[in-house]
Amino acid sequence: MSACVFCEILARRAPGSFVFEDEACAAFMDIQPVTEGHVLVVPRRHAAGLADLSPEEGGRLFRAAQRVAAALRASGLPCEGVNFFLADGEAAGQEVFHVHLHVFARHTGDGFGLRFGPRYGRRPGREELDQLAGRLRAHLA
Ligand SMILES: [Zn+2]
Repeated sequence: MSACVFCEILARRAPGSFVFEDEACAAFMDIQPVTEGHVLVVPRRHAAGLADLSPEEGGRLFRAAQRVAAALRASGLPCEGVNFFLADGEAAGQEVFHVHLHVFARHTGDGFGLRFGPRYGRRPGREELDQLAGRLRAHLA
């Protein structure tokens, strides 16, 4: 048995309700949906976090998620909009350490929302934004 529940689902050793599969990734229903029609898109290869995913795998993951989003909109399920959500790291809310992109249907009154931290209302000045941008640019290859 693998320690990773998503690898187990991909290997068909644990149950999964599959929506999509190709050689790079797969999509299956979340067992604890935010709304009706909540899908997880995962790479086939075990990758714990975003940094472990190749750019190609990331691209394939996003493309699959776009197709799932279009299917949600066409499905007849309550779907006025779609959210993508990816938690990278425990502090970001990642619970299963095999990269997964949540794709779920949204509709008015579904009760889902984001809670912002206490710094949210504050608007940094341009100088601070430029300084932060420079700091990040220095780390882009
Ligand atoms: Zn895995």
